[in-house]
Amino acid sequence: MSLKTGNEYIASIAALGLEANILGQKSSDLTKHPLVKPSLQAVATTYDCAHSERNSSLFRVRSSLTGEEINRFTHLHQSAADLTNKVIMQRVCGNLTGCCFQRCVGLDAANATFSVTYECDQAHGTQYHQRFIEYWTRIQRQDLVVDGAMTDPKGDRGKRPKEQVDPDLYLRVVERKSEGVVVRGAKFHQTGLLNSHEVMVMPTVNLGAGEEDWAICFAVPINTPGLRFIYGRQASDTRKLEGPCMDVGNPTFGGQEVMLVFDDVFVPNELVFLNGELDQTGKLVERFAAYHRQSYGGCKVGMGDVLIGATALIARMNGVAHASHVRDKIVEMIHLNETLFACGIACSAQGHPTLAGNYEVDMLLANVCKLNVTRFPYELARLATDIAGGLIGTMPSARDLEDPVAGPYIKKYLAAVQGVDTVDRMKVLRLIENMVAGAGAVAYLIESMHGAGSPMAQRIMIARQGNLEGKIELVKQLLDIR
Ligand code: SF4
Repeated sequence: MSLKTGNEYIASIAALGLEANILGQKSSDLTKHPLVKPSLQAVATTYDCAHSERNSSLFRVRSSLTGEEINRFTHLHQSAADLTNKVIMQRVCGNLTGCCFQRCVGLDAANATFSVTYECDQAHGTQYHQRFIEYWTRIQRQDLVVDGAMTDPKGDRGKRPKEQVDPDLYLRVVERKSEGVVVRGAKFHQTGLLNSHEVMVMPTVNLGAGEEDWAICFAVPINTPGLRFIYGRQASDTRKLEGPCMDVGNPTFGGQEVMLVFDDVFVPNELVFLNGELDQTGKLVERFAAYHRQSYGGCKVGMGDVLIGATALIARMNGVAHASHVRDKIVEMIHLNETLFACGIACSAQGHPTLAGNYEVDMLLANVCKLNVTRFPYELARLATDIAGGLIGTMPSARDLEDPVAGPYIKKYLAAVQGVDTVDRMKVLRLIENMVAGAGAVAYLIESMHGAGSPMAQRIMIARQGNLEGKIELVKQLLDIR
């Protein structure tokens, strides 16, 4: 059953028969929906790579749970090399799709939950770790996509979960039964949710006394009764409804973000991995966030490669590739992109084993990685916009190109370097538009800012992990200050 192909994966999602609210309508047959399909195809890439001659050795790995060969997207990292290979794999996926391929969130949630459940059992005599192992063994064997759900709506940001006027603004347990719990609430920004077989839910903040009902971690199949899906909009998303069309920018792939509502959902005990253990919540949040901040040192770099390539190509098509300032700007883009990659690799290479036996990234370096990601893709986008020129914001539509009157004018006046096909030039401009201002900018820019936590969250962790006292001590020793 392991190692599905992309087509097998798509068939397995179609078989779930999910329904979602999309643009004000109840939609079924989601795998064929023009807004959903590109995102599904992006996830399918993570499956196909495990079968491609070029990438299978990177994407296939031996499971620490079963000894069987599995897709690395379900792997519990066993070494710093595993952590490094994860980042390289994500860069490859970013290269192949030019967008968010969505499958990393569950991988990061699993690695965090694996170690936290172990430590929780040690501290509280609970039985979560074995439960999680049994759960994740099934995920690996069936080669499933698990979404990770952390971000609560949060209501009044100045108040704690228990202080909210509406307690459901943080997902919580509303009923405890002998065979499980009933949960209510919502999770926002759910990347690839409708392309997932399961969803794993974690708390979004460190919880304190009186907040036991919010201290819940569990998983449920995506077709569990009571789950409701409301599809998120992306800039220019309705271009995807216009049929196969250059104006979409990225013709095959795209991302997906969904608002997920838990309308009194029953979760059986065997899928509950924390339930009221307050002291474990902060750890779970920090570890999941650190793994996902590491992830950005791979996926955003892969997308950055695509943007750099598109920028260099449009410079060539425009006849300015040899201008020294253009060359220098492209070097700057490469420098920024590789700096992100260096951070992703560094926090992996400095990884260490957890008490449970899987490997965790270096938390300080993972946060440095993500803080850089909140800035550098914006600078890459600025430089790409600079070099591409104003046409990425003003170019006529693909339909005008087909118009018998407008079309010839467009072809005549959008010509650039002799021998360059005008339509090809327009395609490259549309791809750049997609990444810096269109649907692709959700993954490349907005997610870079807020995904895996907004910049201040990284600053707090850097302040905590940066060992400032140790640095002051160095100076005292050097200068013999007592
Ligand atoms: Fe993976 Fe990047 Fe998308 Fe997160 S933003 S799911 S790390 S591709």
